[in-house]
Amino acid sequence: MEAVSYSDRYDPASSRAEVFISDEEILAAAHFARTHADDSMLVRRILEKARGCHGLTHREAAVLVECRDPVLTEEMFSIARDIKRKLYGNRIVLFAPLYLSDWCVNGCVYCPYHLQNKHIARRKLTQDEIRREVIALQDMGHKRLAIEAGEDPVHNPLEYILESIRTIYGVRHGNGAIRRVNVNIAATTVENYRKLRDAGIGTYILFQETYDKKRYEKLHPSGPKSDYAWHTEAMDRAMEGGIDDVGIGVLFGLDTYLYDFIGLLMHAEHLEARFGVGPHTVSVPRICPADDIDTGNFPDAVPDDVFCRIVAVLRLAVPYTGMIISTRESQSVREKVLELGISQISGGSLTSVGGYADRGAESAGNVSGTAQFDISDRRTLDEIVGWLIDMGHIPSFCTACYREGRTGDRFMSLVKDGKIAGCCQPNALLTLMEYLQDYASDDTRRKGLALVRRELDGIPNENMRQMTSRRLEDILAGSRDFRF
Ligand code: SF4
Ligand code: SF4
Repeated sequence: MEAVSYSDRYDPASSRAEVFISDEEILAAAHFARTHADDSMLVRRILEKARGCHGLTHREAAVLVECRDPVLTEEMFSIARDIKRKLYGNRIVLFAPLYLSDWCVNGCVYCPYHLQNKHIARRKLTQDEIRREVIALQDMGHKRLAIEAGEDPVHNPLEYILESIRTIYGVRHGNGAIRRVNVNIAATTVENYRKLRDAGIGTYILFQETYDKKRYEKLHPSGPKSDYAWHTEAMDRAMEGGIDDVGIGVLFGLDTYLYDFIGLLMHAEHLEARFGVGPHTVSVPRICPADDIDTGNFPDAVPDDVFCRIVAVLRLAVPYTGMIISTRESQSVREKVLELGISQISGGSLTSVGGYADRGAESAGNVSGTAQFDISDRRTLDEIVGWLIDMGHIPSFCTACYREGRTGDRFMSLVKDGKIAGCCQPNALLTLMEYLQDYASDDTRRKGLALVRRELDGIPNENMRQMTSRRLEDILAGSRDFRF
């Protein structure tokens, strides 16, 4: 690609949000993308670079996202599929969100938990209620949770979050165990991030929502989150606090997708430049309806075809980063983007506070009227597992890396060497086998066992194949929790 001079006010290694997410550079990159998207020679050069898993700069990625040529688009999708298979194999990791509290002092206009919403039921789970929720999640088969809570120093102080994490890790029901707790809570201090790290969290997740400062300030009129720099620099503080794995994301549709797409990649470049390791995951939620929220107020809502392109180009641009999609998306959209780069999905989720324990009483996924957003994919976890198997993916409940100390740059170097797929596949088979033995319906068990047999034969390394085979036998005999 031709030499590019970035705008003077842009420095990816700066610690200041307005410098590493330079508005000037985003606008220049967006202009560059729009004016070069029809340049097929340039697009082909960028695709060749992507094919080698070298990642792309935000400007290169923006050109691809704007390219509308159908032949080049198909090539882009095909490279995205190849990279995904090469780096991660065909496993899809499953998790569930657990909403602890919808008390929130912020004023985010797109979220029903905002302080001014007086008709949503406010609820915070007690430790006993959390225990019941975790038992219900374990009985579904989940091993990995993402806990969510609004920002409220009175109702949800950090001590409450830390106590909840201890409670979650402490619950053992039958063969169930939550082995990794990821945390999605508001931006906080280095000291608090250190406490979260000491509590043994997996990934710290925080969505930027939008990188456009002016738009951000309009969408966040009140509360601590209204401070753009405080929010945007949160991942820096998390890493300074010793958290190795951070997950970033935007809420596509709050601003133009191109602005936020470029901002997201600049954020990844910043973490790499400043800390030597990019984000562990990128999430790609889209704005969708919820109590008190009318998507008609968001004219930048992203259509499906653009969304697929965004996922594919992210896979090319940050090949070593996990990509997450939630049950906001319908089954058909999930089917498309799983192929193009998604590596983690939620399943059997509820987006309200409480309710897993008495799911029978639930109405439309919105227990006690506290859902943060509407769910499109309402299938049970067993149905999701069966569906993934039908499509040739291995549903995985693996949590091995974090428990083996493969985090941060240690994890990234394994992915970059192409070695992680060699762990992902056997771990997926072992954890799927646990699921099939303990939680699956008859139909899913039958399909799953056939998949395990097929995939076991396909493990290329002889030693690994034999070890996996022995451990699968051990699981059939009642042992649990093996990992590579
Ligand atoms: Fe609170 Fe988060 Fe909702 Fe904003 S998005 S109102 S911070 S829960
Ligand atoms: Fe994720 Fe590591 Fe397990 Fe692969 S081996 S699925 S990267 S935790």
